[in-house]
Amino acid sequence: MKRVALLGATGSIGRQAIEIVEAHPALELCAASSGSAPLDAVAAPFKQVGGDLTELLERAEPDVVLNAVVGFAGVHATLWTLERGVDLALANKESLVAAGELALAALRRGGGRILPVDSEHSALFQCLEGRAPEQVDTLVLTGSGGPFRGWSRAELEHVTPEQALAHPTWSMGPKITVDSATLANKGLEVIEAHFLFGIPYDRIEVVVQPTSIVHSLVRFRDGAALAHLGYPDMRVPISYALTYPERAATPLPPLDLASLTLAFSTPDAETFAMLALAREAGERGGTAPCVFNAANEIAVAAFLEGRLPFLGIPEVVGEALAANDGAPARDVDDLLDADRAARETAAKALVVA
Ligand code: NAD
Ligand code: MG
Repeated sequence: MKRVALLGATGSIGRQAIEIVEAHPALELCAASSGSAPLDAVAAPFKQVGGDLTELLERAEPDVVLNAVVGFAGVHATLWTLERGVDLALANKESLVAAGELALAALRRGGGRILPVDSEHSALFQCLEGRAPEQVDTLVLTGSGGPFRGWSRAELEHVTPEQALAHPTWSMGPKITVDSATLANKGLEVIEAHFLFGIPYDRIEVVVQPTSIVHSLVRFRDGAALAHLGYPDMRVPISYALTYPERAATPLPPLDLASLTLAFSTPDAETFAMLALAREAGERGGTAPCVFNAANEIAVAAFLEGRLPFLGIPEVVGEALAANDGAPARDVDDLLDADRAARETAAKALVVA
């Protein structure tokens, strides 16, 4: 039996994870948490609404932690899991982006593993398995382009939260859905890939693949490229991470190749400024990725509440990055300080944007 602690059990990933755990006889839910939603419908010996997630993990003694919390709020759970060498099934990309080097240091000390749940990183993880780093040329992250693919700046000026929340291929929580519309999600994923696979930013590309069938690719030095294909359904990467290396069965139909369209195009990085801002933050390093993430969280919340226009999101994040001195976080307290300062700068920038 593998004991699974599920953080963010009431969310989009959380609910799909419960389905996977219930369908698999070797998986057992030992703990479940939510930010505020009730957990009455979730069967687990340890449950917690709000509060300190690391206390829940201490009590539950999991074999694997599925971190499906949204945002920086998942950072303590990620660090706890890595420090103890417990397997981390990581959906909460924001924690790895923000904690970066601190998370990798905790991973080295703990000696555990990160099993990516983000579909692109699960794909890359599988394409890279068993290959020496020197064989790898580039990582290619795919993205659908979001609901506003092909739109001009002028057309984006007045988009509403409702329009941004209508994602063409994936059904997800509101924050990541807005991130997909701005391409901030792909930006976070570039940084996530850098930390997960140790590949420099200039060898991580992004390509648009509107039907979300190709989940990512790795180009190798001999000219070969390995891709991972599948229907856009998060139960597949969730199941892979929870049952790794077994690759358990899921209820998905086989891929109907003859019915697929697989066109690729270059993302419009000029109109969707968040992608370039994320790269800039990643390349600067230190606390810049943490600042990018914190300011984005503030800006997305304001956009969803109707307090910030869609095109204000990159403005707010750009201001927060400009105010950051780029100093690295020596410890978690430094990281929390950088996150807090970036949120304050972003909140002030909201008024102007
Ligand atoms: P969601 O909004 O549907 O669910 C978030 C969960 O986190 C909920 O259970 C909520 O109660 C909990 N939560 C929120 N704030 C919290 C806090 N402060 N403390 C503790 N718990 C809190 O989000 P989601 O779409 O399931 O996404 C979760 C994570 O997975 C995000 O990091 C997202 O980027 C990542 N992810 C999601 C998808 C997807 O298809 N939904 C795909 C790839 C990656
Ligand atoms: Mg993804």
